[in-house]
Amino acid sequence: MTLLDSTVDDSVFTQHESDVRSYCRSWPTVFNRASGSWLTDVSGRQYLDFFAGAGALNYGHNNPLMKSALIDYISDDGITHGLDMATVAKGRFIEAFTSTVLEPRGLDYKIQFPGPTGTNAVEAALKLARKVTGRESIISFTNAFHGMTLGSLSVTGNSMKRAGAGVPLVHATPMPFDNYFGGVMEDFAWFERVLDDSGSGLNRPAAVIVETVQGEGGVNVARAEWLRALADLCRRRDILLIVDDVQMGCGRTGAFFSFEEAGITPDIVTLSKSISGYGLPLALTLFRPDLDVWTPGEHNGTFRGNNPAFVTATAAIENYWRDDVLAQDVLAKGDRIHEAFTELGNRFDGLSTRGRGMVRGLVFDEATAAGKVCASAFEAGLLAETSGPSDEVVKLLPPLTISHEDLNTGLEILTDSVKEVIG
Ligand SMILES: *Cc1c(COP(=O)(O)O)cnc(C)c1O
Repeated sequence: MTLLDSTVDDSVFTQHESDVRSYCRSWPTVFNRASGSWLTDVSGRQYLDFFAGAGALNYGHNNPLMKSALIDYISDDGITHGLDMATVAKGRFIEAFTSTVLEPRGLDYKIQFPGPTGTNAVEAALKLARKVTGRESIISFTNAFHGMTLGSLSVTGNSMKRAGAGVPLVHATPMPFDNYFGGVMEDFAWFERVLDDSGSGLNRPAAVIVETVQGEGGVNVARAEWLRALADLCRRRDILLIVDDVQMGCGRTGAFFSFEEAGITPDIVTLSKSISGYGLPLALTLFRPDLDVWTPGEHNGTFRGNNPAFVTATAAIENYWRDDVLAQDVLAKGDRIHEAFTELGNRFDGLSTRGRGMVRGLVFDEATAAGKVCASAFEAGLLAETSGPSDEVVKLLPPLTISHEDLNTGLEILTDSVKEVIG
């Protein structure tokens, strides 16, 4: 019997694991295997994964292209842990990322490897912006999500998550995200006014941090023209622009970076979730070379440079980003989801849809319906999660590599669940 076929009693989790656990509550079973877009539980039941590790599994579970590179590397006794020492695996990753991702897009960024999580990439970005400008304050947006450590939490909107900090979250000011006032107010009228008014009480900010599509915040999509106006405002006022591409980067919206469509060039970019390509922890903070004012070791960490993750990240770049086949496929599959959701919206009252590429939301006027739809979908063998301030949105993040057939199967399950809940 292998480890994967041994039985685990549910009480192991309920008795010993902290109450902070969350996804295991939405999907109450014990999983053991995964391949592509499918997970299997200990009873042998299969689940179609429309959540993909919150966007950490853009290329699916155990993608064979990355798996073989990883197995070879481990078998050959490649470096597993090496602090931030120079290794062949890191060097090869930097070469591939620079030549295949950055250079063809005309992006000139230095690459920092912070600790391996998204929130660490954000902390590094905020620290650097403050150090470069000598200013403390950061502008964030309503319903933003940037992570759970104190700096990232201070620029995150969700009140329940903020309350968990236990200390005041300061030096951050929220501004309305695109369409916050439903088109009633001119986009940056308020922001410009308080920047100009010496009596406004707004300290001159070091940076603005923004997601092009707010994933956790409810699949709120910023229009390309809104992003361009924001980038323009930042440039005119000498404020650094940070795009947090932790969830929307690595092809989720089609192009490698989610800001490419708007034609803007952020000063600082954060990446994590799918950058390793295999679900292994890895994070990058990218910035303009002239912003590289760090002194050696000033933002340190034991697990910078996760070497097995470099190996899979390099394989992901080489297999998926040398041409635009995947990017085009993402746009086509995104259209397919949009079509299915639009049909649902036409058929049922109190239902609408929004999204870009392969991040799509089904928005319920009656917020509790979204959770019920996800619960019903789970019963039918589909993993999907809610997002938004009232958990009113069913958020879809299928693997980008999902087959059209599996995508349609999942959309059918979801349609049945919607019918069951509000039909
Ligand atoms: C998930 C996420 C983070 C935080 O990443 P962790 O790895 O959970 O720390 C930050 N920003 C965005 C936009 C995210 O989606």
